Amino acid sequence: MTRVVSQTKAAPADGAAPYLNGGGEQSDPRVLIRAPVLVLNLNYVPVNVCTVRRAVVMVDKGKAELLEQHEGLLHTVSGAVDAPAIIRLVYLVKRPFLPRKLSKKEVFLRDRFTCQYCGKKAQDLTLDHVIPRRQNGAHTWENVVAACSRCNLRKAGHTPAEAKMTLRTAPRAPDPNPYMILQNRTILDAWKPYIPWNLE
Ligand SMILES: [Zn+2]
Repeated sequence: MTRVVSQTKAAPADGAAPYLNGGGEQSDPRVLIRAPVLVLNLNYVPVNVCTVRRAVVMVDKGKAELLEQHEGLLHTVSGAVDAPAIIRLVYLVKRPFLPRKLSKKEVFLRDRFTCQYCGKKAQDLTLDHVIPRRQNGAHTWENVVAACSRCNLRKAGHTPAEAKMTLRTAPRAPDPNPYMILQNRTILDAWKPYIPWNLE
């Protein structure tokens, strides 16, 4: 079976990642070895981001196949090798995603940094217990929401009904999101076909 390994196009000079600039001799091997590599599961779902150094080892050991490469070659003691930009595991990682831990940051992410009472995107978000802690409300995904400080103040130690406030959505545990691994990362153009949704 023939496998086509395409090269990533040279990125525009302005603000482009150094490992994508030019090719061959121009690539700084010290930068290239640390460049990010998207790791896909056997089923092509992203599972991780690793370094070129790690990816080369995985391909070399037969644990992954090279799908796409950075421009430029890595020069090693045993000769020049391709620098992977995307690799795919040759086995299926069944539960690659850790359960989402309940934290303030995760709740804000789930609620899209929006107050769940007034619906405004707020800078001064707080964590609100829908059934207040003092009324034995649990510290669980189903009982915590993001609330702006104004709404939190208004609601105080009351339930939404007591405070005559309405939740915009019923809070629940977020789905395990395979693309979480890509949050707050630079997404290389070459990766985009494997990331079928807008992360912004
Ligand atoms: Zn609010």
